[in-house]
Amino acid sequence: MKVRLFESKVVSKGELERIRNEVLFASMYVDSLKRKGLEAGPPPITVPKGLYYQVVSSDVVRIGPVEVVRQGNSYLLKGLNAVVEPPLEGEPVHAIAEVGKEIKVYLAYPVEQSVVGVDVGVRHLFTVVAIDKERRVVAKRYFGENLISEEFAKVVSTSEGLGEITTIRKKVEPVVQRAVDFIEGLDPKIVVLENLKGIENRIALVLRIATDSIRQELYRRGLKYRFVNPYRSSRLCSNCGYREGILEGHVFFCPNCGLRIDRDLNAAVNLAMRCYYEC
Ligand SMILES: [Zn+2]
Repeated sequence: MKVRLFESKVVSKGELERIRNEVLFASMYVDSLKRKGLEAGPPPITVPKGLYYQVVSSDVVRIGPVEVVRQGNSYLLKGLNAVVEPPLEGEPVHAIAEVGKEIKVYLAYPVEQSVVGVDVGVRHLFTVVAIDKERRVVAKRYFGENLISEEFAKVVSTSEGLGEITTIRKKVEPVVQRAVDFIEGLDPKIVVLENLKGIENRIALVLRIATDSIRQELYRRGLKYRFVNPYRSSRLCSNCGYREGILEGHVFFCPNCGLRIDRDLNAAVNLAMRCYYEC
C-alpha cells in the first residue's frame, strides 16, 4: 500500500522524550569522538545499539512504522505511549517518529488512487488532470502548448497535408513521453482518453494520431486506460453538470454556477468524471 506522511501535532511525548535524551547523549558522545579525531566505535553501554548507529550517520533517528490506536480525536503510538493529533480526516495506517533536537511525528495515510483524464487538443496538445473520489482536481498539467498549432495549421490548410503526418508523429513523440511520465507519477487507477472515432475532419485526424501515440505509450508502460465518448464534454460544466456552458475563446464559462476555467481543463475533468459512471 502506498502511503503519504503528514506531520502531526504531538500532544504527549511519552517514551519519545526519553529516546530524545538518548539521541542527544549519543550525538554528544559521537561528536566528542570526532573532535578527538576518533572513529565512532561501539556504543556506550547506556545507549541502545540500533539508535547509536543511526546517530553516527545522521542527526535524526527514525522510529517506525509504529502501530497507532485511535483515542477519541487523537492517536496513541503503541509501545511509545505518545499521543498525536491527526492532521487530516481518514484513518492513518501507522506512524513514523523522527527524534533529534526536535521530536516530530508523522502519520501515514494511504494514497488514494486517482482517475486521470486526458483532453487532446490543438492549443494544449494534452491537458492532464487527476481527480480523487470526491471528484476534486488533485493534479493538472498542460503539455505541448502551442507547439503543434503551426503543424496543425499546415496539415489543415494544404491539400497534400496528409504527408505531414509523419512529421507530426515525430513532433508529438517527446510531448507524449513527458505527459506519460507525469501520468505515471500520479499512479492512476485508470487513464481516460477521448474516443475520436466518427469525427471525420482533418483536425480530428491529427488529434487521433496524438491520441494513438499516448495510448501506445500507456500500454507500453502497463498503465490502464479507457476510451470514453467525448460527446459534448466541452459544453458540460465540470463543476455543476450544467449542459449549456459557454465557450469564450479559451475559457469555459458556466452561467449556472459561475465556473470560469480553461476550456481544455474543463473537458479533461469531464472525461475523468465520466469514467466514474462508465468504467
Ligand atoms: Zn456549472
